[in-house]
Formats: sequence, C-alpha cells, structure tokens
Amino acid sequence: MTQGEHSTFSGPSDLHLHSNHSDGTESPAEVVRAAFAHGIRTMALTDHDRTTGWTEAGDEAVALGMTFVPGIEFSSRHDWRSVHVLGYLFDPSDSALVAETERIRTDRVGRAERIVRSIGRDYDLTWDDVLGQTTPDATVGRPHIADALIARGIVHDRTEAFDGILHPRAGYYEPHYAPDPLTVVRLITDAGGVAVIAHPATSGRDRMMPVAFFDQLVDAGLAGLEIDHRENTADGRRMLREIAARHDLIVTGSSDYHGAGKPNRPGENTTSDEMVARIIARAAGSSPRFP
Ligand code: AMP
Ligand code: ZN
Ligand code: FE
Ligand code: FE
Repeated sequence: MTQGEHSTFSGPSDLHLHSNHSDGTESPAEVVRAAFAHGIRTMALTDHDRTTGWTEAGDEAVALGMTFVPGIEFSSRHDWRSVHVLGYLFDPSDSALVAETERIRTDRVGRAERIVRSIGRDYDLTWDDVLGQTTPDATVGRPHIADALIARGIVHDRTEAFDGILHPRAGYYEPHYAPDPLTVVRLITDAGGVAVIAHPATSGRDRMMPVAFFDQLVDAGLAGLEIDHRENTADGRRMLREIAARHDLIVTGSSDYHGAGKPNRPGENTTSDEMVARIIARAAGSSPRFP
C-alpha cells in the first residue's frame, strides 16, 4: 500500500481516542479492540502531547483488519482558554514538534504536583497517590489526580472530581505551559501533518475562540474542525459549520474515548469517508496503516 492511495480504508471512522499513554484507562491495543467492538473500522489514536502508542495501536488495528491513522492531541492556549489541536499523519521525529511536546509534558508534571500540593492542604492526598495512578511515561493530567482522589475514596468517579475539586472554580486549578494555537497548527503542518481544532465550541471557561481568530488559524495551515463532538454546544456547531463552509475546511466527528475515564463510547460520533480521504490526501508526514 503506498501513501496517497486512500481508496482502501473503510468506515465507520473515529479519529479521536486516548490510551494510557496519556489519560485514557486502557492500553493502545485495548483501545483499538474497544473501537473494533463498537463497529469502527478506521481509527486514530490521539494521546495528549505524545506519539508512543502508535506502534502498538497500529499493529493491533492491522491484525483486526482496520485502518490506523496516527494522531496526537496537542495542548495549546489562547488567552485563558485551553485549546486542543488534533494532528494527523505528521512526521513523529520532527525535531521542533518533538521539542515542544516534551516541554509541555515536562511542565505538566510540575503543574500536577502544584495542584496536588494545594489539594493536599484540604484533603488527604499526596503526590505518591497520583504516581500510583500513572504509567511511567504517561502524559500527566488532571484525570490522574481524579483517579488518586477516587482511590482515596474522596470522590466516586472522574466526573465528580472534574465537577468539584478539579474545577477551576474550586481554587486548586493551575494552568500548564502550552504554546499558542497558531504555533501548534504551524508545527503540525510543517511536520507534514493535518491540523484539526478539537471540540472548538465547548461551554464555560474554554468556550469558543473569536471567529476572526479561526481565519488566522486557517492562514497558519489549519485543515479542519472537529464539529461532531459531545461537548460542542448547538450554537457553537452552527458557527463552526459557517466557518468550515467559508474556508472549505475538513469537518470531523469523534468520540474522544478515554476508556473507563469518561462516559464517551467509541463511534458515538464519526467522520465521513469523504473527510477521512481528504485528511489522508493532504498529509505528507507519515502514512496510515492499512490492513
Ligand atoms: P488537563 O489537560 O490536565 O487540564 O486535563 C484535561 C483532560 O481531562 C482532558 O483530556 C479531558 O478529556 C479530561 N476531562 C475533562 N473533563 C473530564 C470529566 N468530566 N471526566 C473525565 N475526564 C475529563
Ligand atoms: Zn484526555
Ligand atoms: Fe481535548
Ligand atoms: Fe481528547
């Protein structure tokens, strides 16, 4: 199978799933099996700021007769907002991209320690509790702190933790280092990849960036918008569809599966064959793995 030959994949396609290389609860192979069991036939693994799950996930996907699209969910920040940028089919050895993801992951550890120290003043929680919930190289995030709170019996599940102690309102929240979204779109694009803004229209603190900023992102190389995602609001989706139509952007849908860490199920939203074909045709940094 050569790169650019994209008639051989088949849907349904889910292009946003997480493993325990970031903050999902399952190994890459388990994530692939979960997607397969939910009827998915083309999938992307998009761990936060990390690409180490690609080989295991790709091997399992091919063994099951699925197509695997390598991906990432890159952390960025616009003003106070946390903005996630999905990257597909880029070169994972690109030095600028690797340096930036390493910087983010390193800072995430210090940030998580600061959050835990702050929580520890009011609750019986230590950094060791959090280390007990992560695999050695995982991208550390609030979900691991949530798992430590669960293990301590302080909350019942991640949702309760995020709605309470981990919510920015609760006073323990700290941001981590993250580059500007324009920088991230350029890093992914310059590494031969395809950049798609993840869940761009959530509610609350991370609500949608100004419409004019999307025009700048498109100028920087942005290829698409993830519109069919459970956290995008109805009004936001309408605005995103207008932006996508104006710039002829790729439109995706996905589950944002995190194993047992979130209620999201593989395939609850999907991406059309036409849009998957556009992503593959546009990419030059790495190849999908076909069955
Ligand atoms: P962080 O990047 O450390 O600030 O944590 C954000 C991560 O937590 C994202 O990957 C989300 O998928 C995850 N997350 C956000 N809200 C929830 C929730 N209610 N339950 C489980 N995970 C969540
Ligand atoms: Zn996550
Ligand atoms: Fe996200
Ligand atoms: Fe995600």
